[in-house]
Amino acid sequence: MAEIAQVIVDVPTMQTNRPYTYQVPQEWQYQIKIGMRVVVPFGNGTRKVEGVVVGLDETSTYDGQLKKIDSLMDLNPVLNDELLQLSQWMANQTFAFQITCIHTMLPAMLKTKTQKYLHLIDEVDEETFLTQFHGLDEIEFNPEKLTKPQLSQLLKLKKQEKVEVVYRVRDRAKPKTVLGISPALTFEQYEEQRSTLNSQAKAQNRLLSYLQSIIGKTIKLTEARQNSDLSTAVFNTGAKKGWLIKKKVEIYRTPTALQDTAIIESQLKLNDEQQIAVSAINQAVDQHQDKTFLLEGVTGSGKTEVYLQCIKRAIDQGQTAIMLVPEISLTPQIVARVKRRFGSDVAVLHSGLSNGEKYDEWRRIENQEAHVVVGARSAIFAPVTNLGLIILDEEHETSYKQDETPRYHARDVAKWRAKYHHAPLVLGSATPSLESRARAEKKVYHQLMLTQRVNHHPMPEVNVVDMRQELRKHAESNFSTELLEALAQRITRGEQSILMLNRRGYSSFIMCRDCGFVLQCPNCDISLTLHMDTHTMKCHYCGHEEAIPDICPNCHSHQIRYYGTGTQKVEAELAEKLPNARILRMDVDTTRRKGMHEKILRQFGDHKADILLGTQMIAKGLDYPNVTLVGVLNADTGLGLPDFRASEHTFQLLTQVSGRAGRADKPGQVIIQTYNPDHYAIQLARKHDFERFFQVEMQIRHRGKYPPYFYTVQITVSHEDEAVAAKAIFDLASFLNNGLGSTCIMLGPTPRSIARMNRRYYYQMVIKYQHNDRLHALLMQVMQTSQKLKQRGLQISVDPEPQYFI
Ligand code: ADP
Ligand code: ZN
Ligand code: ZN
Repeated sequence: MAEIAQVIVDVPTMQTNRPYTYQVPQEWQYQIKIGMRVVVPFGNGTRKVEGVVVGLDETSTYDGQLKKIDSLMDLNPVLNDELLQLSQWMANQTFAFQITCIHTMLPAMLKTKTQKYLHLIDEVDEETFLTQFHGLDEIEFNPEKLTKPQLSQLLKLKKQEKVEVVYRVRDRAKPKTVLGISPALTFEQYEEQRSTLNSQAKAQNRLLSYLQSIIGKTIKLTEARQNSDLSTAVFNTGAKKGWLIKKKVEIYRTPTALQDTAIIESQLKLNDEQQIAVSAINQAVDQHQDKTFLLEGVTGSGKTEVYLQCIKRAIDQGQTAIMLVPEISLTPQIVARVKRRFGSDVAVLHSGLSNGEKYDEWRRIENQEAHVVVGARSAIFAPVTNLGLIILDEEHETSYKQDETPRYHARDVAKWRAKYHHAPLVLGSATPSLESRARAEKKVYHQLMLTQRVNHHPMPEVNVVDMRQELRKHAESNFSTELLEALAQRITRGEQSILMLNRRGYSSFIMCRDCGFVLQCPNCDISLTLHMDTHTMKCHYCGHEEAIPDICPNCHSHQIRYYGTGTQKVEAELAEKLPNARILRMDVDTTRRKGMHEKILRQFGDHKADILLGTQMIAKGLDYPNVTLVGVLNADTGLGLPDFRASEHTFQLLTQVSGRAGRADKPGQVIIQTYNPDHYAIQLARKHDFERFFQVEMQIRHRGKYPPYFYTVQITVSHEDEAVAAKAIFDLASFLNNGLGSTCIMLGPTPRSIARMNRRYYYQMVIKYQHNDRLHALLMQVMQTSQKLKQRGLQISVDPEPQYFI
């Protein structure tokens, strides 16, 4: 029983992480639970806001007059204790408000724009339900429209599990339900019933045996009829005699990708390196250790098989597992593999699902009907209990970091949950982030290596083509002679090719086409960004600014220009140069419609095309045995970005995309076109030498005081009036400067690269630091005052460990 509730409220401009105390009305003192959403009065007027119960007390120690909770929005908590604690930690970690974190964790269907309906589960109480609610078989659960006695009555029925609540988006079809049956008696009671039957009642006798065999389960009536070979009439008799209960069974909306699930595939026999990895992880699963593993394996080395076998171990022990993949709509092949292994025990959560599908998958997890969760970033909040293992595939991917508030990184959340459940966490990648690899070096993570491709297939041969030379040989083209010839050869042989056009850094910097020169900041070791609004080149770190050059400062050529081209243009050129090639194009334009990713990939898999041309989205996860050539049209666009991670991202991307070639018996070849053939990121990607890349890059990071040697946090301020935004960031900078002394390095403040967006001006600064106690406290203070500033139209965001610096 609880008289007092602690509630965090959702008030847009007056947020705080401090809960408010409310009195619980008498009729709900037994029903209210932590994790339920409530409606409470707020402020002086009659304003009603939504909140979440985060604490309960039996009696009040508070003398004054407390406001009363208006109504309960849920009959069941929507957040368990673990997820509530997690939201609290996350708010503190990402400088966000706890209520924002909670909204991020819940599926959209549970947010207020949905309607809630109550369904009757058990016909025994139909009468009560009907008299109370005037003969309706389902009613909208809207606390504002119900009287208090009605609400209280409903909560009682809910407690007895006689009604259930169903969420529905307006205008969406009803959740599908069918009739099901469930045994009402114990095994012995059925035996007693049998003794009262006369020998003629054969069907009823068979029904008793059937019910004995399904005790504790609910079976769809259609299935029960099939399995028992009994008619509906017999089941009706059983219901009348009180042997069984009729129930509505919810049918889940299954995402289309998951529908054909019939075949359960068996495990592969592991090679030695895989076996070592699986044993080490399984040992941690068995012993419930919250160890973090870094599984570093070249592309095609069989990391996925390692994940699958460890997941199996966890679920065999009655536990659950979460597997995160970077962006699930890009990796349907991986989902299909998990699905083939675990069938309907898998739930999938990603942005491509409708809200209804997402909610249903969420429910299947909550009801413990699915023990394996596969999904993109937000799947890390899946409401699993008894978690036994978490896997983050392609752990270096920047999509694991959310780029809006709350700015959490799924890897950090994964670590938190792994620790909470005493479960191991596996970070897998061919090209781990420098942060993770450095932690493995320091033995904070346990490193596992897969150095060979499965079956010892060789890594593909990589040729680097110097586009500066090409340009001298023939008219301007996106294709070198070498790449065109290689493509033509594949078509003759009936093999397939993947072509990638790198879109990162498109047009945002300028480069000399004769010598590859990119204009750098004299102070910062990063390239300058082109600002068309001011017609200058600017450094985003220190604010340095200079004129756009019209001749190359290095070789005095006039070929210095913006860099970039589009997939459509490339496709047109390709069609002209190779008229008999069948080309599939995959980019934002061709994949905007739901299901198009899958469709294009399926067509390519069925060899309906010779060439798959696309942006970065084709670099990940594809496993097609017939692909023997991978071409990268412009390897260096990413290198020009004003970001200290530019080399790292380029190395990762080239390695990923190269890994798509020669995965089966036919050897693979990769052709990388670049204006910077000697750049270490390109040279080391050519040699598949991650270890060397790691060493070189670490030295550069050390010199520049960048991660993983320093942590970073970015602070951004925006306002419609540029002067206000500028003043605010400089005020902030001096506030932080005074508080921090010389323990941190402050870069900026400077205008952001796209200084004006949506009619707002953006200013930013970056702080590099090694110890953060003081900084964290100051930034929390900034967040608290940000609410006041918001009323004046200023927006402030604090981004811990930003993934991009543009
Ligand atoms: P990665 O995830 O490291 O890129 P995959 O797990 O996709 O590699 O494995 C590459 C290919 O090798 C897949 O087609 C997979 O089915 C196959 N494979 C993986 N492990 C084995 C094994 N032990 N024996 C045979 N084939 C395997
Ligand atoms: Zn600079
Ligand atoms: Zn030049």
